[in-house]
Amino acid sequence: MLVCKFGGTSMANAETISKVADIINSDSERKYVVVSAPGKRDRQDTKVTDLLYKCFAEAQATGSCAETFKQVKERFDAIIKGLKIDLDLSDDYAEIENNINASTTADYAASRGEYLSAKVLAKKLGYAFLDTLKLIKFNEDGEFQLDYSIDLIRQEMAKVKKAVFPGFYGSSPGDVVKTFTRGGSDVTGAIIARAANADVYENWTDVSGFMKADPRIVANPKKIEYLSYRELRELSYMGANVLHPESIFPVRNAGIPINIKNTFAPDDSGTMIVPTSKLPDNTSVITGIAGQKGFTIILIEKAMMNSEVGFVRKVLSVMEYENISVEHIPSGIDTLCIVVRDEDVQNKMQKVLDKIRDSVSADNVEIHSGLSLVAVVGHNMASRQGTAATIFASLAKSNINVRMIDQGSSELNVIVGIDTFDYEKAINTIYHAFED
Ligand code: ASP
Repeated sequence: MLVCKFGGTSMANAETISKVADIINSDSERKYVVVSAPGKRDRQDTKVTDLLYKCFAEAQATGSCAETFKQVKERFDAIIKGLKIDLDLSDDYAEIENNINASTTADYAASRGEYLSAKVLAKKLGYAFLDTLKLIKFNEDGEFQLDYSIDLIRQEMAKVKKAVFPGFYGSSPGDVVKTFTRGGSDVTGAIIARAANADVYENWTDVSGFMKADPRIVANPKKIEYLSYRELRELSYMGANVLHPESIFPVRNAGIPINIKNTFAPDDSGTMIVPTSKLPDNTSVITGIAGQKGFTIILIEKAMMNSEVGFVRKVLSVMEYENISVEHIPSGIDTLCIVVRDEDVQNKMQKVLDKIRDSVSADNVEIHSGLSLVAVVGHNMASRQGTAATIFASLAKSNINVRMIDQGSSELNVIVGIDTFDYEKAINTIYHAFED
């Protein structure tokens, strides 16, 4: 049995939703479906979720969201008309508009896109509509409750053969709507797949899977056929954003593969995300390259630092106190480097440097900004020699200065810090060193 999730571009208008319906109807195993709200129909368009956030802001500012909510209604009315389905959403519209005006939460407003979208698709398919409000549960601290939610979902699934679920939201105690972070319908899809014990979680989007590098940087990169959950974590953390980074947790423990598929090219095989033990013996050394701009290195120097017990703890305590997440900690004998995201240290860098200097009586503390990180990821790296040599030889040949190196002992990735002005060049250089 398959659980499918369709994203915003797949649900954008009547034409794309017809494609979605054809895909679902083409395989009777596609029994449970999760949907996003209608996304952009073209580059200039606005996602329904963004319109709904705007409705909330408008109601807060003026007491009425009528102006923007009209656009939401028009989008759904056009979809219903285009699909030629017999569905009247006027009661829902009235209730939603009233609730937003009555100052419910931004989460409530945002969630209504998925709610209406699921109702439309359920009608089109003749499937049951199951509201995730009462099925996906968060506790009072806002933490998602996986086991409890799975029990609730299973009880409802037992009553229906086929169903459509709205993605993106569930509720806190008292049935107060709570959403996941943006793109969270991917997470809902994974939870439903886990509850249904699906053979595969199909995640339908507008690209045919993960590419080995960002196509905006590398021309025509090869597609990744297979990816392990762990490799996916590494790549998405470093900026490859086809799938919500949290969406693997619900399916990973149960070993349910995720298949990224393209609604607009349904015959493409897409990318399969599987446990490491299920990866085929492919020959590629590297699985993918991802990266991010916007990092700073804090360099701390102190003579005899290496023999000073508690040195690292003291530095990290400063970072914890200032609520700054530490990305990497490369160190030398008398030096310690802390790599942080620029956005995390904005407006507090001087304070942090002073505190570090004081806490460890450092000889010197300085910052090097303008750093970008590039992660070269691949489970095959552990069993092959020469991967690091290929990376660094190719960077040297392209005159790219390496400012930081980090290789985890899992040998799943090598992370290289380079100057941001070399970022695109570095990704191209490494890609071609392995793939040509
Ligand atoms: N509609 C929500 C968003 O735009 C959630 C999703 O599509 O997954 O972020």
